[in-house]
Amino acid sequence: MSAINEALIRDVVAEVLGRLGQAPAGNGSPSPAPPREACACNASGHATGSGIGRGKHGVFQDAKEACEAAQAGFLQLKRKGVAARAKVVEIVKTLADTNAAEWGRIELEETQIGRLDHKIEKLKIIKLVPGVEWLHPDGLSGDHGITLEEYTPFGVVGAITPSTHSVPTLSGNIVNIVAAGNAVVFNAHPAAAKCAATAVRTYNQAITRETGIEDLITIVEQPTLESFKAICTHDAVRLLCVTGGPGVVKAAMQVGKRAICAGPGNPPVLVDDTACMKRAAKCIIQGAAYDNNLLCIGEKEVFVLDPVADQLMAELEKAGAVRLNSGQLDRLTREAFTVKEGHGAGCPEPVVNKALIGKDAAVLAKAAGVSVSDKTELLFAETAKDHVFVKEEQMMPFIPIVRVKTVEEGIEASLAAEHNYKHTSIIHSHDVEHMTAMARALDTTLFIKNGPCMAGLGLGGEGYLSYSIATPTGEGVTNPRTFTRVRRCVMVDNLRIY
Ligand code: NAD
Repeated sequence: MSAINEALIRDVVAEVLGRLGQAPAGNGSPSPAPPREACACNASGHATGSGIGRGKHGVFQDAKEACEAAQAGFLQLKRKGVAARAKVVEIVKTLADTNAAEWGRIELEETQIGRLDHKIEKLKIIKLVPGVEWLHPDGLSGDHGITLEEYTPFGVVGAITPSTHSVPTLSGNIVNIVAAGNAVVFNAHPAAAKCAATAVRTYNQAITRETGIEDLITIVEQPTLESFKAICTHDAVRLLCVTGGPGVVKAAMQVGKRAICAGPGNPPVLVDDTACMKRAAKCIIQGAAYDNNLLCIGEKEVFVLDPVADQLMAELEKAGAVRLNSGQLDRLTREAFTVKEGHGAGCPEPVVNKALIGKDAAVLAKAAGVSVSDKTELLFAETAKDHVFVKEEQMMPFIPIVRVKTVEEGIEASLAAEHNYKHTSIIHSHDVEHMTAMARALDTTLFIKNGPCMAGLGLGGEGYLSYSIATPTGEGVTNPRTFTRVRRCVMVDNLRIY
């Protein structure tokens, strides 16, 4: 049994005994938590060590209390130093790994989107998110002495997480944010809030036990737009980290505080006639089928040069993807989108049918009027370049394939489909001029050549992982440095040693 599991059991025993009014026996924990303050709740589980609010293990009903408790958590972390930050990072990575099967299951049960195998994997790979080792001070030395630039915390970060990867985003955000020395208060997606609260409780129990710090991570148990506003405008919250679609990005940018925004994407893939079609097909399936295409970086539409289009589609079929004919495509399109007259700026605008987001390929196939094996990972069909499946970020394991006559036309179509989100684009090619032209034209945060989308996050490509890729605000793949203030300390005319 791992130390952490033992510790969790001790915690449960301590809590039960606490409710019975008895003190737990000595637990031999490496860093026992300080005794809780007596409170008036009669051990019904409300008081925090900071004496603030009615949260339990970081889970609060009230957003203001969650922010205040996180501020108290930040001050405790500040006193305990970098060693405590490193301990928290280790705890989060270990617990995300050991609880991956259970947390993946409860997230899928709650959200009903995505795939269990990938939900589990997304938690196991939290270990790839960088920690305190990422923060190196920069030193300057010259005739006028020495200067040190340090990466220091903000205080409390307000973080908003999506329904598509609730616990993975929360866990990755904690690693980055706490490694930088901050505390964090979360407003999760209402459809993925229970699993997020479960993880926060578990993390805080272990953090308190191992470091003595309480409420370093807080969350609003039932998140609403009001709790979002309360967090964003609370004085203790110095910085926002928002992961989601266009609505929340816009809302966060209107708050008037610095916001790190990981916004929407609609990643295009261009395949030219120099590419290896077998490899391209395999990569497209790997990326577009991952968690039923819930990834913001996931391949969402393919533009392929006409002379190799049939070959690419044959390779997609050989690798297990199922091709829909035009009648089946029409049927799926009618099921997947409704076009609301007068919606938006007065023009008809397609709205994605949420019931099909993140569903298995077999479910989409049924909607298209065809039966496929449950093992089918991806459906595809040939479409025009202005098809709604090309234009909308649909997050379903179906990918439209569009023939183009030239690389220039493919780049132009990719640019239009990407909507200037500047998120992710992909090329399969062995021609460096094509690669360079696409990289320059698309101007995306991630540009992947000859690999699946996840290679851009250190999974099969070089690099590190984060589930929050700050696109409109430009911080890129977030890491501990993203959540720091750079402060300069100057010694004039002295301490230079040569
Ligand atoms: P969503 O925009 O519906 O929700 C994201 C979060 O924002 C949730 O917590 C939600 O409650 C909140 N929210 C939504 N609208 C809001 C508003 N007007 N005011 C305040 N809060 C609001 O997105 P989702 O369906 O949960 O996630 C998918 C979206 O997120 C996709 O667009 C995807 O591309 C994007 N995403 C981006 C990244 C990235 O790193 N760039 C990562 C994951 C997901």
